[in-house]
Amino acid sequence: MPRLSEVIAELEKLWPAERAESWDAVGTVVGDPGQEVSRVLFAVDPVQEIADEAVELGADLLVTHHPLYLRGTTTVAASTFKGRVVHTLIKNDVALHVAHTNADTADPGVSDALAGALDVRVVRPLVPDPADPAGRRGLGRVCELDHPLTVRELAARAAERLPATAQGIRVAGDPEALVRTLAVSGGSGDSLFDHVRAAGVDAFLTADLRHHPASEFLADRAGRPLALLDAAHWATEWPWCEQAAAQLDQISDRHGWGLRVHVSTTVTDPWTAHAASTHPTSTAGAPN
Ligand SMILES: [Zn+2]
Repeated sequence: MPRLSEVIAELEKLWPAERAESWDAVGTVVGDPGQEVSRVLFAVDPVQEIADEAVELGADLLVTHHPLYLRGTTTVAASTFKGRVVHTLIKNDVALHVAHTNADTADPGVSDALAGALDVRVVRPLVPDPADPAGRRGLGRVCELDHPLTVRELAARAAERLPATAQGIRVAGDPEALVRTLAVSGGSGDSLFDHVRAAGVDAFLTADLRHHPASEFLADRAGRPLALLDAAHWATEWPWCEQAAAQLDQISDRHGWGLRVHVSTTVTDPWTAHAASTHPTSTAGAPN
């Protein structure tokens, strides 16, 4: 059975901490390097539900995409929700390791897993990492579809193939426009609009899009049939958990570790319900 330090050393090869953004907080958050690891759980969010799931599963290591603490803290008291997570993990000998922006830009990274879930072919990173001479690492991915789909059809495919959330998929732009090329970025992608425009793709699928950036982007698309597809943040990053679990499985086989590697299917997207609008604007409380 491997020690935590040996497993972490392999995870660090997949997602080196030095490739994380300077504002990020990646790496091992909780854990004794000498403890043995036999069961590992992958999840997007290090929230209490997931910590409880790791304990119930008998996991020795929880690997999440999102950091537990992103900024400095002066307390891990169990009266705070993050402190309670720390207590749950330590009391039950569960280590926590985070791979965030270093997993976003990896090869394969978070957006490769997203493209794989959508069954579109990755051509190149949307924002290549200048430190990678092979040009395979970077943020987001530019993809091609084997057969063109309308935006509406592509949204239906995303709704079908990404894990189910209350939000589903929102579309901005002409639903009947044809999509042959697509940019994707797991997580919040509206800071990438300039790169999407420069890539000359037909559509962009990401999460957390806001009113002003989205409407400005659509107004400034220079006549192209550019459309936006907005999925739930959690749903766009969850496919990475499966990809990462498969990577660790292979590593475990290579070393003869016999690790049991699991992926949490608990939906930790904060949005829990969705009501479709039923009234046109003219009847929704407008004075007659
Ligand atoms: Zn995220």
